[in-house]
Amino acid sequence: MSNIQNFDYQIKYILIGDTAVGKSNILLRFMQNSFFEGYKATIGVEFGEKNLKLDYLNFKLQIWDTSGQETYQSITRSYYRNAACAVIVYDVTNKNSYLNVQSWIKECWENSSGYALLVLVGNKIDLEENRVIMRGEAEEFARENKMIYIETSAKTGENVEKVFMESLKKIENNII
Ligand code: GDP
Ligand code: MG
Repeated sequence: MSNIQNFDYQIKYILIGDTAVGKSNILLRFMQNSFFEGYKATIGVEFGEKNLKLDYLNFKLQIWDTSGQETYQSITRSYYRNAACAVIVYDVTNKNSYLNVQSWIKECWENSSGYALLVLVGNKIDLEENRVIMRGEAEEFARENKMIYIETSAKTGENVEKVFMESLKKIENNII
């Protein structure tokens, strides 16, 4: 029977943040354990689904990747609707992408009815020599805004799984 549900909870994640910070590659790494060097703008709504087992529960993660222009206004309300978790990504080598996190948080609060768990991800840590945002600063900012903070490299794969596992644990705690 193909219509038997193979999960207990379906959890919607959204990836937001400035363009070129690595959102699509974080998704690619998590879904297919691969990486794409060239830059390809995400066109149309793309999403990945992955089943994860945590304790005795089966979760289906449905992860939406921003489509089209990644400007605050152009992301529609429906993108945010029912999201249990918003992953806000910035690039540790790009100061502007970090400064814009505040606007992404605001955008999230206004569109996601305010209950989504927020995760701040500092990506591209493989480019350590080009880093301009120090870990401590971002950690402090995340704490003030009640966000989980994780640094990743979609290129090497470091901590990418952790983004989803840590947030899922928090979400699970709220469910049971
Ligand atoms: P998006 O616009 O946020 O979806 O960003 P992409 O995933 O398309 O990545 C933008 C560019 O950054 C691409 O050239 C990627 O290859 C590169 N990139 C993404 N993640 C990383 C990373 O962790 N390290 C490095 N060095 N490059 C990355
Ligand atoms: Mg993209």
